[in-house]
Amino acid sequence: MVGDLFAAPAAGFVRVALPVAVDGLFDYAVPAELADGAQPGRRVHVPFDSRQLVGVVVERLERPTAGAAGRLRSIDAVLDSHSVVSPMLIAILREEAARVLCPVGLALAAAMPPGSAPRQLERLALTPRGWSALRSGAATAGARPLLEVLAVGAAGEADLEREAPGSRQLLPVLEKDGLVARERRTAGPRVRPRTRRLLEHAPGLDLEAALAELARAPRQREVLRALAGGALAQRELTRRVPGAVRATAELARRGFLQTREELAPVEGGADFAEEEADVELTAEQAAALVRIEDAIRGRRPDRLLLHGVTGSGKTEVYLRAVAQALAEGRQALVLVPEITLTHQIVARLRARFGDRVSILHSGLRPGERLAQWELLRTGVTPIAVGARSALFAPLEDLGVIVMDEEHEPAYKNEEGFRYHARSLSAQRARAAGCPLVLGSATPSLETREAAARGEIERLVLSHRIGGRPLPVVELVDLERERALAPRGRKLLLSAPLRKALGETLEASAQAILFLNRRGFSTQILCFDCNEVERCKHCDISLVYHATEEQLLCHYCDYRIPPPEVCSACGSSQTGLLGVGTERLVEELRIQFPHARVARLDRDSASRRGVTEAVLADLARGRIDVLVGTQMVAKGHDFAGVRLVGVVNADLSLHFPDFRAAERTFQLLTQVAGRAGRGHLPGRVVIQTYAPEHYAIHPVVEHDYESFYREELAHRRTLGYPPFGHLAHAVVSGPDEAQTASAAQQLADPLRQASVCREGRVELLGPAPSPLARLRGRYRFQLLLKGSAFADVREAARGLQRGSARVPKGVRVTVDLQPIHML
Ligand code: ADP
Ligand code: ZN
Ligand code: ZN
Repeated sequence: MVGDLFAAPAAGFVRVALPVAVDGLFDYAVPAELADGAQPGRRVHVPFDSRQLVGVVVERLERPTAGAAGRLRSIDAVLDSHSVVSPMLIAILREEAARVLCPVGLALAAAMPPGSAPRQLERLALTPRGWSALRSGAATAGARPLLEVLAVGAAGEADLEREAPGSRQLLPVLEKDGLVARERRTAGPRVRPRTRRLLEHAPGLDLEAALAELARAPRQREVLRALAGGALAQRELTRRVPGAVRATAELARRGFLQTREELAPVEGGADFAEEEADVELTAEQAAALVRIEDAIRGRRPDRLLLHGVTGSGKTEVYLRAVAQALAEGRQALVLVPEITLTHQIVARLRARFGDRVSILHSGLRPGERLAQWELLRTGVTPIAVGARSALFAPLEDLGVIVMDEEHEPAYKNEEGFRYHARSLSAQRARAAGCPLVLGSATPSLETREAAARGEIERLVLSHRIGGRPLPVVELVDLERERALAPRGRKLLLSAPLRKALGETLEASAQAILFLNRRGFSTQILCFDCNEVERCKHCDISLVYHATEEQLLCHYCDYRIPPPEVCSACGSSQTGLLGVGTERLVEELRIQFPHARVARLDRDSASRRGVTEAVLADLARGRIDVLVGTQMVAKGHDFAGVRLVGVVNADLSLHFPDFRAAERTFQLLTQVAGRAGRGHLPGRVVIQTYAPEHYAIHPVVEHDYESFYREELAHRRTLGYPPFGHLAHAVVSGPDEAQTASAAQQLADPLRQASVCREGRVELLGPAPSPLARLRGRYRFQLLLKGSAFADVREAARGLQRGSARVPKGVRVTVDLQPIHML
């Protein structure tokens, strides 16, 4: 790009955020012809090193930083005719990126419209030598057709193979001989927003006259009548008038109809919910709503915790808050942890607000996502609902932000820009001047404690709607059950759970069985040497999946057929250990042969639409027992489910994570909340080896507060959040000794730094991570702990600076305020 150095005088300069791991913004010159277009918030194409990147203009500069002027490269193109990342969002993201030590360009890249990444095109072309070989006839007979194709024009490899079959084999040789060369070029984003075609009456159509004229074409008459109420999509039209396609074409040809393109709204959702009539709020709901509406009207960025037991009507309060924001002429953002698992809330939003809702989530195709984005940006849809990335939606005048199930770990982004949706939405709320409503039956310790300190206001919904009782929860002590059971008998389903299941099926009601472990068995154990089969790349045991007859690694998807003999000692005395959802389904088929059993976990739901289909079947009573992992724990509201069984409550309790108890309590309360949402009381049976544990016992009385007090005391003693701040660093590399020493060399200087010497930050480790090896990489962790966030951040920044010096191949990730620490 030498040419840039001597380019025509620049018409100005811009500062651009680029999606690269270097912290900082980059200045570019603006050529005169792009001077009008290069505005803040728009995307630009720029050269960077030897690459082309798409970035966002952050600001215009009067003049570049001193001394840089002559050396600046120029932007190549402006991709947008309007701002796609608002100044407000740019400011928030810059601040948050700095706070969590993320390169600012990566943070801004998160807010770019879907499908912004540039495409790299690679084309093959003749070199001067190639041309002369073609002209002189020196090319071999085999190569000739290929060169002839390229003489017409440069082509991609696939096109070339099509026009000159066999070229793929020849290319390496011709490239080596210098007859053919590769050109790399960057093209703009390929994604176009998805649109749909609408049909409507032609302008100025006189319907009566037209119908008279079409007296002998009944189908065409029907089509015109169907469109009398307004424009319809072709699909909808064909649904109403079977065989409309031909008639439509004919009508268009004759000038009775016209077509119009519009951004495609997301389909589905609404069929799930029947819209309840204008219900009267309970006193608690009304009180909470008054508080929220007051903040909306006053444009105050209050943070409000809507703490309501499952089924207490939180969603109804959200819907009213959204309606209020709309009534004020503003927009609303509703965040959910995971869209497929929170179908209910989406469906209810759609049922109440219809086409005014846009849905944003990663399950959509890029074009569909972009259409939703555009609908929001242009104000056609004032409501956005989506997973954490919906935070970046182009909503300029927010009246309320709702964050449902605020305690869910899914709100933390674990890659690149490691933001937590809770803090980012608080910032958006502050910038927009609107309240943030955090809803949960089991708030995170951080949120609940902030409420105790008065930083957040807590609004309580203490009863289920309609005086429905909370389900009766029964703990089954597996230790005792085991002692009672006949020797050697496997305790998948204890006697009390079997009995409860039997009674539920007898009463033609439905049950959900929760087991947070997919697969058939957890492990294959050797009875001679006591080894379990492990993944070759990860320090983790393989899980047997019966349907595929494979051993699978749940981290890297490594799969092998189950070995005949132990791979450690060669013994043939091996057996299956532990149970997963697959195995549970099989057990149920044996014990309850007449029950219709289905399974929902990440294996069964790997295909698009499966989750929705299974949940719809459950809702329609086509399933008697649904077995599932935590995918069944959330947001569903099925009136027919009377029994919830938890097969092993202790699975999450023994996780090497200080939040293990909190997660266990939340998960159990969530699943328990699935029972008895209809008119009949629900029942919950929880199997555990630790019935007295403070994270399990309070589930019986639905006693969040007692769990909270106990857990808070633990956190205080250990200086964990909310009483302290953490940073977690993982050092990983292909060589164990090298990685260990790199981790040590990161830690040593930090120990000497003043934050650590003065005891403001405690540095733990390096130690092998709980997941000591993952995808072939050894992993060591460092944990920073301190009572002031600024101190922890400073120490973490020290680690980050040090990571520039680790050997090649070793990677360091630093996570401030971590949620997962594996
Ligand atoms: P949550 O979100 O707290 O789990 P929901 O908002 O889903 O609770 O409410 C549970 C059920 O009660 C839903 O079917 C909802 O339609 C209904 N509901 C909510 N509020 C009222 C009300 N004030 N009167 C009657 N029914 C209500
Ligand atoms: Zn693996
Ligand atoms: Zn063995």
